[in-house]
This record gives sequence, C-alpha cells and structure tokens, in this order.
Amino acid sequence: MMLEELREQVVFYGNEMLRQGLTLHTGGNVSARAGEYMVIKPSSVPYALIRPQDVTVMDLRGNVLEGLPPSSEWRLHAALYRAFPEIGAVVHTHSLYACMMAARGAEVPLWHQELGRYCARPVQCAPFARAGTPQVGEGAVAAMGKDNQVALLKNHGLVAMGKDLWQAMDAACAAELSCAMHSACDVRRTGMPKGKKRRTSTW
Ligand SMILES: [Zn+2]
Repeated sequence: MMLEELREQVVFYGNEMLRQGLTLHTGGNVSARAGEYMVIKPSSVPYALIRPQDVTVMDLRGNVLEGLPPSSEWRLHAALYRAFPEIGAVVHTHSLYACMMAARGAEVPLWHQELGRYCARPVQCAPFARAGTPQVGEGAVAAMGKDNQVALLKNHGLVAMGKDLWQAMDAACAAELSCAMHSACDVRRTGMPKGKKRRTSTW
C-alpha cells in the first residue's frame, strides 16, 4: 500500500476532527502532501468507517492512484499545495463558530494568542464559491495571502494548513477558538448574517 503512514494519519486526524467537535458526520476533510502526490479523505464515507486503504492517493491534477474516490473538495487542497510549496497538510472544517463567521463574511481578529502562531493578520474570508469548484481553491489561496495559514470560506467553513497534520489541526482549533470569541464579542453588536431574518429576542 502506497504512503501507508500518511494514510493512517489522515484516518486519525479525520476522527480527531469529530472528537474536537470541528465537524459533523462526513463534513470537512483532511489531507497530507507527499511530494507531487497527496493523500486525502475519500468522498462521503463517515470518518469512523474509513480504513487506511480507503484513503485516496492522488496527484494534484486529480488522477487517483489508490483508494476510494476523493473528497469532492480535493481541488481546494490541491490549490493550496500548489500555491504554498512549504505546506504539508490541510484541514478543512465545517465547525460551528467558523461557519457562523463565514456566513457573515467576517474578518476575524486574532483574539487568542494561539492563532498568532499561524496568522500575522486577521483571518480573511474568501468570496462565496460553490463547493467542489476550482473557485473555492482560488479564493482560499488569495485569502491566505503571504501571512496566514487559516482562511474562512464564505457560507461554507474554515480551511487551515500546516507543515504537517498536527500543525494544520492545531491551526484549525486555534481559529475556531478565535471565531467563537469573535461571535461572542461581535454578533450581539452587528446582528445576524445578511439574508437571515433578524431575531427579536436577545442572544
Ligand atoms: Zn466543505
């Protein structure tokens, strides 16, 4: 089996996303780079059922070498690996507070020092793009810029990258914490996301 150790890491960190409360059911995905290839969560398989041999091994152009068909978001991961050669792993979550901030298209300040390890400026939100399209990756690359390892995706979620899966997961957790703090500090002042009916009761 190709890249067995990295595939085991994809299984572990996929389940870690669930344990950390960063996604539900089959949402989100994780990947790691191996030279010109990446290993990525397979499409639509619950994390608890994924075996290392199911994890997709593919190149950055979409050609699958081993495993099940890849997550529909593989283009997002491939775009980040192409744009940031130093990056070795990507974690994409649909975590609650990041989704709340992404629904608003919010810029999220570095409320907690943990996020300062991964971002030199506030987290930016990429414009809306339909999931699975190349535009998601293009927006994420631009939102990361030169300084940040985390970006929000409008009406979608969060993407974090690191030199390995541990670091990418750490960045995602740090970003979720700052998103939670931002929602507590800011939503009361600015209200609900655009397009949603404003509640009359207090938060
Ligand atoms: Zn997604």
